[in-house]
Order: sequence, then structure tokens, then C-alpha cells
Amino acid sequence: MRVGLGFDVHRLEAGRRCVLGGVELPHPAGPVGHSDGDAVLHAVIDALTGAAGLADVGSLFPDDDERWKDADSAALLTAVVGLAADEGWRVGNVDVVIATEGPRIAPARDAMRARIAALLGIAADAVNVKGKTLEGLGALAGGTGVAAQAICLVTRVPAEPR
Ligand code: MG
Repeated sequence: MRVGLGFDVHRLEAGRRCVLGGVELPHPAGPVGHSDGDAVLHAVIDALTGAAGLADVGSLFPDDDERWKDADSAALLTAVVGLAADEGWRVGNVDVVIATEGPRIAPARDAMRARIAALLGIAADAVNVKGKTLEGLGALAGGTGVAAQAICLVTRVPAEPR
């Protein structure tokens, strides 16, 4: 077994689609990024790459590469799940904390859990998502951004006999 830790932060800008954890949220501002800016899935990707000993999300999908412009982060996570599987790693569980005073997380929590679990190919109860506000403190206060932390456990699947 191994664990990996991921973190990401994106600015929120009015008029952008607000996709977090692979779920579109009804919010007037959304994350800015070269891809869709889904800080939650980016944190999950980095937790998984960290656990599996793969390169981080910025190295795998550079933000100066036109292929990843406005990319759907769900597709990026699916690609990383495949890379980890190629190395014999299967995801056990994932836990996520989302810190923002922007979109409300609680109403979308179960949808995010189900979506992340589906992308990882694991049961929804093996994914947890918690929203935290920032008590009006720090650079993300007032809904200017969203930060996400994720931790991921992987287990090595025994190689099939050839
Ligand atoms: Mg990111």
C-alpha cells in the first residue's frame, strides 16, 4: 500500500463555468485555468500520481501545451488512472477537503463523491468530500478562489502470470 497527497488552488472569475470535482455547480464565478480549472480533480490527480510514483499533473499536462487548453479534467484523471494501472496500482480510497467561500460544496457533495468514484473505478463510499469555509481569513476569503487537498491510498495488484 502507498498513500499520496495532492493540493491545488485556482482563482475564481465571474462568468466562468464552475466545475469542481467533475460536477458543474450553480455559481456565478468559476475557476480560471489552462484546463477547466477543476482544482478538486487536480488535487485528486496529484494525490494519485504521488501515491503511484508518477509525475505531477503540471508535468503530465503542461499548461503551455495547447492539447490541454480548456481540457476536461475528468479526462485527465481518467488518463492518470490508466497510467497508475499500467504500473499495477489500484485506488483504495480518496479523501478530499475543499476550502472556499465561493460555491457551496455541501449541496454537491454526494454528486462529487459519485463522479470522482466513477472516474477512479471505485465505490462511492470509498470517496469522501468535505467543504470548509475560511472564516473570512486569507487570500481565498470572500470567494476569490478555491483550494483543494486530497489524499489517496493505492494498493499494488499482483501481476497476472504470463
Ligand atoms: Mg490546477
